[in-house]
Order: sequence, then C-alpha cells, then structure tokens
Amino acid sequence: MQPGLFCLHLHTTNPFSIMRPVLLFLLTIISLTGLAQPKDTWVIRVGKLYDAQNKLFLANQTLVVVNGVIQAVGPQVAKPAGAKQLDMSRYTVTPGLIDMHTHLLIHQKQTKDGLEVASKVPADQRVERGLRFARQYIEAGITTVRDLGNSGQYLDVRLQKLLSKSGNLTIYVSGPILSPPGGQFGKLFPADSFVINQEYRVVKGPADAREAVLEHVRQGINVIKVCMNTDNRVLAPDEIEAIVKTARDNGITVTAHATYDESARDAVLAGVSGIEHGYALSDTTLELMAQRGTYLVPTDASRRLAARLVAGIGMVGKEADDYANSFLNGVHDRLRRAVAKGVTIVSGSDYYLDVAGVGQGQGAVDVVLAYHEAGIPVSEVLQYATYKAAKALGVSDKLGSISKGMQADLVFFEGDLETDFAQALTQVKMVFKRGTPVFSKVAPVSRKKPVGGSRK
Ligand SMILES: [Zn+2]
Repeated sequence: MQPGLFCLHLHTTNPFSIMRPVLLFLLTIISLTGLAQPKDTWVIRVGKLYDAQNKLFLANQTLVVVNGVIQAVGPQVAKPAGAKQLDMSRYTVTPGLIDMHTHLLIHQKQTKDGLEVASKVPADQRVERGLRFARQYIEAGITTVRDLGNSGQYLDVRLQKLLSKSGNLTIYVSGPILSPPGGQFGKLFPADSFVINQEYRVVKGPADAREAVLEHVRQGINVIKVCMNTDNRVLAPDEIEAIVKTARDNGITVTAHATYDESARDAVLAGVSGIEHGYALSDTTLELMAQRGTYLVPTDASRRLAARLVAGIGMVGKEADDYANSFLNGVHDRLRRAVAKGVTIVSGSDYYLDVAGVGQGQGAVDVVLAYHEAGIPVSEVLQYATYKAAKALGVSDKLGSISKGMQADLVFFEGDLETDFAQALTQVKMVFKRGTPVFSKVAPVSRKKPVGGSRK
C-alpha cells in the first residue's frame, strides 16, 4: 500500500488522515513536579528491570539514585543512609522511552479541512499546546523526543527553550523540513499554498541547500530533516549531498523522510544517518542501509490504533478491516525484512493526529506495540525506544539504559512488561526525570504478589 495517496493534509505521511469530527480525550494526572529535588537520594526496589544494553529483563533489582544519576543497580546494593525508599516490587522499570519522530507543534483532525484548520492556528497557541502535549508524553513514559518539523518557522526551538526550564520532557529539534519545491504535499488548493512557506524550507539547487542548512544551524537546531520525495517531486542527488556535507561539517546529522525506494536509496548513498517511514524499501536498499549503518525509523501503528484510525476516516465493516490489514501486512513485512537484513531500528511514532480517545502520549507509545505485533520480541522492541534511540541521538553515555552513571530517567509500568506487554505498556504509574518524580499514580500500599517471581 502506498500511504498518503488520498491525503490532502499538512503532513502527507500518515495513511489515516481524512477524517470525522473528534472528541478530545482528557487525562487526569497527578503531578509531583517540585515534590522532590534532584539532590534527593532514592533507594527503589523493583519487580523487574529492563536492561536495555543487553536486551534482558532482570527480576528483583534495587536501584540507587543520587543527585539525578544512577549510582548502583543489582539484586543486593549498599543503601545510603537517609535515602527515600520506594517499594515498586509490583512494577517493571525501563529507561525513559525515546520517541525519535514527533510533531509537537501540529495537531490535525482526520477531516477534509484538517490542513486548513491545523495550519491557521496562531504560533503562540501552537507553542502552548506543544507544552500540554509534552506533558502527555511524560505521562505515557516518554521522557525524550526528537521533533521533526511541521513546527512553523522554528517554533520548535522556542518550545525547546520553554521545556528546558520545566525539567520534564527533553526535546531535540529539526526546524523547518528541507524539501523540494511545493513542500510535502500532493495537490493543494490555492488558498492553502501559504502553508508551504509557513512550514517548510524549500531548497532550490545545491548552493541554496548549503545555505538552508547554515540557516538552521544558526537557529540552534539539533538535527536536519529532509523530505526526499513527495508525489513526483524529489530532492536531487546534488542537493541531498550538499545538505549532508554541510550538516556534517557543522557536527549535525541528517534524517530523511523517504517513502519511495529510489528516494531512500539516494539519501542513503548521500550519507544520511536515518530513513523515516521507508514503507517501500526494497531488499537491496535495506542491505545498503545495513552496510552503511543507516537506521530506519518505522512509523507504524498497532492493530488497535489502526482500527481507530480507519474508523476515523469513515470506513466500517469489511472495507475497514481490509484497509487496516493491507497497511499492517505491508509495514510488518518491511520491518521483518529490515531486521533480517541487520538494519538498525529506532523507534518513532509520527503520531500527530487528533483521534477520539487517543491522547498524544498514548498514540506515540503505541508504536513499540506495533513493532511487537510484527513478530519482534518485547526485549528487542524496547531497545529500539531506549538504547538504540539514544545511540542514534549520540547520547547513549547518559540516556537509554539503566546502569551506573546514567541519568535517572525512569518509567515504572504496573505489572509485567515482559509477559503482558500490550496491557502493561498502558499502565505507566510513575515517571522519574533526572532523578525527580515528575508523574505518579502509585497506590500507597499493596499486598499483591511481586512481579517476576523468585528469579534472581
Ligand atoms: Zn512526520
């Protein structure tokens, strides 16, 4: 299936984007921000711990966190005097999850006028809403995101500055997507064409491509996102080469939106670090990616989310089932072939739609379930959203795993994430950011059986 074929919307990747009226879903939360300072020392007993570097679940572990940093992990550890004690023996702990493909500054209904509505929201409102969405990511267990455009003209840099003060979500930003003429669209009504310059940086030749990267660097972005193809328009090989070289000279990596195989191959040959979506990747291109160490960000959906999205575009019955199955079979096949060829997989949701009953954080965390449904073990899909993502960001020395010296970004899922993945993934009950609890719904006392049994 070719996603985006029938879409007329701001971001033409998602195949579920023409829609019906929608209800907003509101989460009741308990914020513990400010309750504890990073200088606190914690001793936390957990039922299970996900070891992201080794792709293992370890039972009955104890963590010591001092000044926001993990000091010790193991079945038996020395407990510092005066530490705050936390019994999380009914919970599974993972490193804070990382979503490598978000759009915090766009929110689009699945309606025919979704583009028009989404693109006319004033900049200040987009930033305020982005702060609310950031909170939803935290509540879903995502503590770091990489935001890849559709963020106006550097509204993502503004949002990053605001979030850096709050101490909650960490956000890496791309600025406007570098694209061929016309932005990332199929046909646009003339009245909507303002969106191209509002949301994209159109590239006109290799010299202009270099200038576009330098503009972004001056604005303080962390990564360059390019749109390699949209309909029949593509970035030319000399343009993508100029982008990658200029970015590299400035210590920045490039990731490429590529839904066509040929465009993805051009991007890989030019030296991009990652391919976003890659729905139509051939075995030849996957082999090239494996050889060159180019990662793939599969922006897929689980069966349960796909059903919601298909309902949102007005399909019912057999038509809906066929559409969802066609999408799921396609992305599962692509992911399994990528894994079999040895391509590095990094988790990214690309969830920016306004769908009834599915908040931004929930929709984002769903993508790891999607990978599991393709037949990939739980212990591996969690690595895509932790250690592998941190490596792709160049920060695996402080994020993405739970071991001595790492920043204490931690998520506590009620239940056993290893054996009851789909259920436990939705049961985030506590989140630590830099050693501080920033979200908690933990019941004070429990007599239930600990997670993980007697295994040591
Ligand atoms: Zn996207």
